[in-house]
Amino acid sequence: MIPVANQEPQGPSLYLHVPFCRSKCPYCDFYSVVGNQAQLDGYVKLLLQQLAWLNRRQVFTAPLATVFFGGGTPSLLAPRQVAAILDRIRYTAGLSANAEISLEANPGTVDAASLQGYRDAGVNRLSFGVQSLQDDALQLLGRGHSAKEAVQVVTWARQVGFENVGCDLMFGLPNQGRKELLQDLDALLQLQPDHMSCYGLTVEAGTPFEQRRLRGALALPDEDEFPELYLTVHEQLTAAGFEHYEISNYALPDRRCRHNLAYWRRQPCFAVGAGAHSFIPAGYGTRREVPADLDRYRQRLMQGRDPAVTLETFDRQGAMAETLYLGLRCQEGVSDKDFFRQFGLGVAEAFPEAVRRCGQRLTLDAGRWRFDLQGWLLFDHFISFFL
Ligand code: SF4
Repeated sequence: MIPVANQEPQGPSLYLHVPFCRSKCPYCDFYSVVGNQAQLDGYVKLLLQQLAWLNRRQVFTAPLATVFFGGGTPSLLAPRQVAAILDRIRYTAGLSANAEISLEANPGTVDAASLQGYRDAGVNRLSFGVQSLQDDALQLLGRGHSAKEAVQVVTWARQVGFENVGCDLMFGLPNQGRKELLQDLDALLQLQPDHMSCYGLTVEAGTPFEQRRLRGALALPDEDEFPELYLTVHEQLTAAGFEHYEISNYALPDRRCRHNLAYWRRQPCFAVGAGAHSFIPAGYGTRREVPADLDRYRQRLMQGRDPAVTLETFDRQGAMAETLYLGLRCQEGVSDKDFFRQFGLGVAEAFPEAVRRCGQRLTLDAGRWRFDLQGWLLFDHFISFFL
């Protein structure tokens, strides 16, 4: 049996980016291209090449605790391609015995056989981009799958033996009020997911949704309805036994996403693929990026060069701010003792004015700083005091 991952990362992580999608969703501003099978085959070769490149530079010093195939649409990869990548990882970085291996999947791109193939390859956690279980909403979002198909793929995932299955939900959709959201939540809970990621729809600049909004053709809920919708998600999911462990993420006990926890805790993460970001904690930390440009990615690898560039090398102040920016997103918060150990100051000493301005929204309890739910609702506002 493939082991189900437990909570704590005990080794570095690896993120693999797959910047291909079957079509472009009208609200999405991520880097992704509509690719064909030949492009995907070529891309997998590049991923394998980058893994070999990293291995030759001896960056892998401990088996990986988590691997995450993100995108784009990683489920456009055939199981044999995922298996080839995971085999290369086993022979280069190595995988810890209980490694969490996640793959993001779009319901319209998988069937029972491909899900079985992913499981056989070693994937032990699936995250389905369900978004809604209302057909009119799915159509409007351009998701390319129906509610029935989404229900079907989650059922298949269980049938082929996945014990850790997550679903994404989007709220604040056009024509959606509390009643419609409750219907969506109810339908999603009937699928008995282990994990839910719940994001409010935002209209990004340069997307077709922005054009529609400018034309007055997108009936989005008012901004002041957002808190009610956010709190509705919180109430329903916590009542169903989910832990609200990050601003937008909920998990059943022992089902938090270990890969994302490692990211929020600033733990080491390697990155492979065009558009992937890595983090090296040495010193105050360095964040690197493989630029989101397929031609450049190919060229650099063909020339035997590092495809990644440094985005930011943190100084002490920047590292303190980022530790709070990431840590306060999580229910576990930030340990004052760990913060002191790392930076030589407690949080209230390092940011007295910011802590004061947060008032009751930010508390120190049992040695950990945490925002309450209202603090999370206005996270961007409160966290800006620290940045
Ligand atoms: S599937 Fe995801 S990454 Fe691809 S276009 Fe849609 S929202 Fe963007």
